[in-house]
Amino acid sequence: ATPAATMVGTGIGARNGVLFEGGDVLEHVKDVDAVVFDKTGTLTEGEMTLTDARVVTPAADGAVPEDAGTADAEAGAGRPRDVTESFLLEVAATAESGSEHPIGEAVVAGAGERGVESGELDVLQNVSGRGIRARTEHGTVVVGKPDLLADEGADPEPARDAMAELEEEGKTAVLVALDGELLGVLAVADEVKPTAAEAVASLRERGVTVHMITGDNERTARAVAREVGIDGANVRAGVLPEDKADAVESIQADGSRAMMVGDGVNDAPALASAFVGVAIGSGTDVAIEAADVTLMRSDPRDVVKAINVSEGTLAKIE
Ligand code: ADP
Ligand code: MG
Repeated sequence: ATPAATMVGTGIGARNGVLFEGGDVLEHVKDVDAVVFDKTGTLTEGEMTLTDARVVTPAADGAVPEDAGTADAEAGAGRPRDVTESFLLEVAATAESGSEHPIGEAVVAGAGERGVESGELDVLQNVSGRGIRARTEHGTVVVGKPDLLADEGADPEPARDAMAELEEEGKTAVLVALDGELLGVLAVADEVKPTAAEAVASLRERGVTVHMITGDNERTARAVAREVGIDGANVRAGVLPEDKADAVESIQADGSRAMMVGDGVNDAPALASAFVGVAIGSGTDVAIEAADVTLMRSDPRDVVKAINVSEGTLAKIE
């Protein structure tokens, strides 16, 4: 493109909230043949709301141990014999009260709305992409994925059905354990952005393959993919933050030129690995720094706009 065309394109992009990191980028965006969306905060609003709290204890299936009293004593002083929903919420909210993760914030807010107050938190440890571990006034609390609980000596098995049911609804379910014993399941939900399906449809119409990468579990990821029109075969779920860049590289392994669209700190290496990295609106500074294109709004349709500007087709429309 001529310098004049580049200037025009950059200007049109800027007026549409699409910022290109220079003329080269503007020119290359049109060559993209795959778009990889991060799920949370990119295809979804990224604002989680607590929707469910279900007590699931090791004995909740009716198999109350004869020596329940002894078991209680072993399980720690903080655990009442009959775990209630509000105790489950209190324990989880106490542990998450120091968390900045959207799931943690939703748990604390949701507990508050239900009139449950958080207790004292001593130490909080984030376990990247898996959950948290905390020392609290109630005891040692773990909130997160089943494998994290298992690693901490709490059997996640009794919660399997409840989790599956919640995830099938597109919710993210996390388990709560206290002093090495399961307490229950919490679910948070995140609304899919109203324009996400339209963005995916326009990309597919142009012959662009659409993928999704997420740290969230397979079932929830597929439910969201179904809602926005992404083929289940193009969903990579349970991807740890440090593995997102590898996931993008595996998509590009067949020679595809991928555009990675994300918002989080987690996404920066993946944005850098992609042929084109796109930071979406509400994104963190780290993501914006790693990106070639920044979308000022959080509208996934602006991905299509970026391609149109690069092709010069938006110039003809304006
Ligand atoms: P994403 O890729 O969707 O941004 P993350 O990598 O941040 O997801 O987290 C992946 C998963 O780890 C979550 O779906 C959840 O199961 C678990 N997790 C992470 N942080 C927390 C937390 N503070 N409390 C409970 N679970 C968490
Ligand atoms: Mg994210």
